[in-house]
Amino acid sequence: SAEVETREFQAETRKMLDIVINSLYTERDIFVRELVSNAADALEKFRYQSIAEKPAFDEHVPLEIVIDCDDKNHTLTITDTGIGMSKAELETNLGTIAHSGSGNFVEQLAEAAKKDLSLIGQFGVGFYSVFMAAKKVRVQSRPASGEEGHEWSSDGAGTYTIGPCPGLHRGTRIIIELKEDAQEYASKFTIERIIQQYSTFIPFPVKVEGKTVNTVQAIWARPKSEITDAEYNEFYKFIGGTSDEALYRFHFSADAPLAIQALLYVPKDNFEVLGMGRMEPGVNLYCQKVLIDQHSKNILPEWLRFLKGVVDSEDLPLNISRQALQDSSLVLKLKRVLTKRLIKFLGEEADSDPKKYQEFWRTFGIFIKEGVTSDFEYRDDLGKLLRFESSATEAGEMISLDTYVNRMAQGQDAIYYINGPSRAAVEHGPYVEMFRQKGVEILYTLEPVDDFVLNHLGKYRDRKLVSADREDLDLSKTTGTPQAEPPETPKEEPLSQDALNALCAWMKEVLGDRVEAVKPSARLVDSPAMIVNVGGFMTSSMERLLKASGQ
Ligand code: ADP
Ligand code: MG
Repeated sequence: SAEVETREFQAETRKMLDIVINSLYTERDIFVRELVSNAADALEKFRYQSIAEKPAFDEHVPLEIVIDCDDKNHTLTITDTGIGMSKAELETNLGTIAHSGSGNFVEQLAEAAKKDLSLIGQFGVGFYSVFMAAKKVRVQSRPASGEEGHEWSSDGAGTYTIGPCPGLHRGTRIIIELKEDAQEYASKFTIERIIQQYSTFIPFPVKVEGKTVNTVQAIWARPKSEITDAEYNEFYKFIGGTSDEALYRFHFSADAPLAIQALLYVPKDNFEVLGMGRMEPGVNLYCQKVLIDQHSKNILPEWLRFLKGVVDSEDLPLNISRQALQDSSLVLKLKRVLTKRLIKFLGEEADSDPKKYQEFWRTFGIFIKEGVTSDFEYRDDLGKLLRFESSATEAGEMISLDTYVNRMAQGQDAIYYINGPSRAAVEHGPYVEMFRQKGVEILYTLEPVDDFVLNHLGKYRDRKLVSADREDLDLSKTTGTPQAEPPETPKEEPLSQDALNALCAWMKEVLGDRVEAVKPSARLVDSPAMIVNVGGFMTSSMERLLKASGQ
């Protein structure tokens, strides 16, 4: 009809579609998972909205996902009775890529997709995966507001059409004409298998050819003792949109002072290092099993955005608005209790399996450090989770601040650290000489950000954290146990006081404004000179970092 318009996809979307269409189809099944999870999201949104306002129409249409397989015509149809989309929503949601991250998002996604296209859902572009299997897709949708419906259609190659589609029920129907080599997806056995694999925890009935194939249950609300490892793993795969297993899982429930049920997972990988920019938080907030805040920014601090899972509290009012969630003191309390418990959990895991914790630390330590520098509230608790190499560890091995404090030398009242680009660089530098000679352990902070972290922390268990490049460093009252006798060096006559003063004066003259002063020191063992930090507020590594960032 004349009312059907043809539109071009946004350039980014075209690139995205190109990647999808030309990628290896090793995990093609995931397009079903993505579409079913979109349908479930739409149902959750509708359910949440209808708590506050009476539906405009189709009030009694049941909340469900219906899948039809037509293996004669090679089509697969997925229908939901969720929130639906208006014409404008169809165009923005299915024609553009909304992403706040870096400009070359699509290139980076292309890189990631080459390795594992199943991650596509993590980046908010899951819908487009349908073009792995589709020759043509039609999306018919009518929004819950009651506006008339529209049909969007595309073969994924540059353009789409959009036009009116009257007479629809509330929700969305996706009709997929399958490619020649993807006709297995018109078989109900294939679809049942995929739903069982990826979508068993969808909290609405998923019906394939009239039969409900998922087991509807909120796993987090069941007693721990009744849940098997396999069920926990399945749920992680579902909630994390992954086929991996989690590194840690934390199932927590409490009745007082607040009713909380939380099931949180630490993934194996840190998606932010793929260069995809900041990830959205991965924890959803429920009240009595009704989703009220997806990817919740309110229920956990930002630096815990790498966690996946759910939090449910029946103390929350069901019809709480997004704005009210942000300001709610109850949500703040939930957040505090959960965060403290989670930090405690990680600490216990670190004690019981240090090797595994080291793996966690390598992948997610950066988030813990972010917590120390950005979140005053948990700073001291987080100190326990930090790990560093030290003069007393093997290369690559790390210790906690507790381990350090517990074996401090006699008379030692501070925790010492020194930053450097590598362990070798630190060990060949002048700052550690005196520590080595006296047998006092010193932490090696090998990441540029580390000195900021320790500077923010300030002290740990009442011991000051002190960078070894401070001018006023004094180990004279500390008696450690030297590892080995220092090698015999031929003793030469020391310079006379006058000669020393003259040398320092000459050096100051040559160096001019580049140094504040040149002074004799008793700290040096083998090196002839070293640069120290006056005032000691910023360590030299922090100054370098600020300079590099142009401040
Ligand atoms: P994401 O689900 O991560 O937002 P997708 O590419 O899967 O990314 O979907 C893009 C958007 O399209 C969704 O955010 C949603 O607004 C809309 N959408 C997709 N499928 C449906 C559906 N079945 N019902 C309503 N809206 C949908
Ligand atoms: Mg999606």
